[in-house]
Amino acid sequence: MSTTEQRVAIVTGAARGIGAATAVRLAEEGRAVAVLDLDEAACKETVEKITAAGGKALAVGCDVSDEAQVEAAVARVVEELGAPTILVNNAGVLRDNLLFKMSASDWDTVMNVHLRGAFLMSKAVQKHMVDAKFGRIVNLSSSSALGNRGQVNYAAAKAGLQGFTKTLAKELGKFGVTANAVAPGFIVTEMTKATADRVGMGFEEFQAAAATQIPVQRVGRPEDIANAIAFFTGEAAGFVSGQVMYVAGGPLN
Ligand code: NAP
Repeated sequence: MSTTEQRVAIVTGAARGIGAATAVRLAEEGRAVAVLDLDEAACKETVEKITAAGGKALAVGCDVSDEAQVEAAVARVVEELGAPTILVNNAGVLRDNLLFKMSASDWDTVMNVHLRGAFLMSKAVQKHMVDAKFGRIVNLSSSSALGNRGQVNYAAAKAGLQGFTKTLAKELGKFGVTANAVAPGFIVTEMTKATADRVGMGFEEFQAAAATQIPVQRVGRPEDIANAIAFFTGEAAGFVSGQVMYVAGGPLN
């Protein structure tokens, strides 16, 4: 493929939040974007935002933890947009609880969406990247990978994604495919709103409290993460692979 042809990107969990901002940003970078989420109808808003700005996008309903759905979704993207060579594994869920209260099902749900989902999506897409001798995979880790009270499942999954990313970088590098992870700190989305609800704080108050702990003294926005993902998926980032970039308004200890 010549670099002047439009590359096809898949962004999972792109109906809202970080995934939606990333889909919009990648479309601004000239990519055709598959906006993938659990509910195809929920992807409509992101798709319309992209097409209204003159971009190309497709809504795809898929549970990333279901192998048959992932294979069908990728086949549909190939048919309707073209072979995907950019993949952003962003779909995520929380099932927070302290260890002694966490159910095995809450553990499994988080592992299945984050780890199994990233594995299934990467496996289904990699052959198109290898054929094209070009690929960019970005996995969404988190500052919680360093450990976070009440998130033993999520922290393990997000740390696991860092090992997954480095291994993809080693296996796929010779095919022109890079793999990197972006690890956000506090970003204003439905996910952090759900955490505020869980701890019984108003969302504004929760954000203000978080901002005081962040060196740049503000909370993050989805676009802050989309910017980092745009860098890693760029044509010029081919020598950057296996890295974890914390995007958290400062260093984390
Ligand atoms: P969000 O607003 O909750 O959006 C996540 C999206 O993923 C939702 O649209 C959700 O769909 C979708 N999704 C959930 N399970 C799925 C599945 N099995 N298959 C396909 N899609 C699925 O979350 P966000 O804050 O934008 O987070 C995006 C990513 O960044 C996640 O991986 C998250 O862990 C990570 N992250 C976020 C923060 C933060 O502060 N927000 C910090 C660090 C890392 P439904 O609505 O239908 O469930």
